[in-house]
Amino acid sequence: MTTMPAAFLGHGSPMNVLERNRWTACWRAVGASVPRPRAILMVSAHWYVNSTAVTAMARPRTIHDFYGFPQALFDVQYPAPGLPDLVGEIAQVARPDHVGADHDSWGLDHGTWSVLVHAFPAADLPVLQLSINAGKPAAWHLALGARLAALRERGVLLMGSGNVVHNLAAMDRRNPDAAYDWGRRFDEAAWEILREAPGDAARLVEHPDYPRAAPTAEHFLPLMYLAGFAAATGRPVTRLVDGHAYGSISMASYGVDVPCPPTAAHLPGAGELATEAPADGSNL
Ligand code: ZN
Repeated sequence: MTTMPAAFLGHGSPMNVLERNRWTACWRAVGASVPRPRAILMVSAHWYVNSTAVTAMARPRTIHDFYGFPQALFDVQYPAPGLPDLVGEIAQVARPDHVGADHDSWGLDHGTWSVLVHAFPAADLPVLQLSINAGKPAAWHLALGARLAALRERGVLLMGSGNVVHNLAAMDRRNPDAAYDWGRRFDEAAWEILREAPGDAARLVEHPDYPRAAPTAEHFLPLMYLAGFAAATGRPVTRLVDGHAYGSISMASYGVDVPCPPTAAHLPGAGELATEAPADGSNL
């Protein structure tokens, strides 16, 4: 079986589902370039709960977990199958931490399907979501990511979906291409540590800009799984795409053993943020 790579994709606004920009071009290139996996194990920012669980249903539902967006987004379905047989293997490699099997509470949320509609538009690969245990620190998530790296020998593509910088209260929705200085600094600090010492990436929570870059941790923590994967495998991290949106969201994506897609600098960045809901009430 082919050894699988891993990726962290910065998902940003759900409007990226409907748009074609330099980030969606990157996600499409990632999907087209990686070996066809047996399954995708996705760590999405939007399943942030008080336990570690994995979706165990044969047909996970598509969850529309956001507010105030056009009906076209609520009409999107991502009918990828699950793979219940994989749940036991995930629980085994995660030991000594416990991973529960979720049979009926979750499914595929927009952190997962907003990037997979681009990366794997056919929706024919099994997808399992892993919850983010909100009670655990960044170092714990990095260590779990390192153990999950064993699944790469079993055909499992480990993916994280979040944003390295994600502060909805600070969003400047009238300036899609804006970036705050503190966001740029934290984004570059993340890239530096991923490049040079991914096993130390949990120390990013000590960075002076961390409280503004990640006032809540759920979009940052999926990055720890990629860092753990890189640390465990000794393989270098590459930056697949970078950029910022609405001032306070970093759109950077990273990969381990993912071919770097050609830069799509000719494509636009973020578009108009078409939501009636206030940014911090939209669940981006
Ligand atoms: Zn999000």
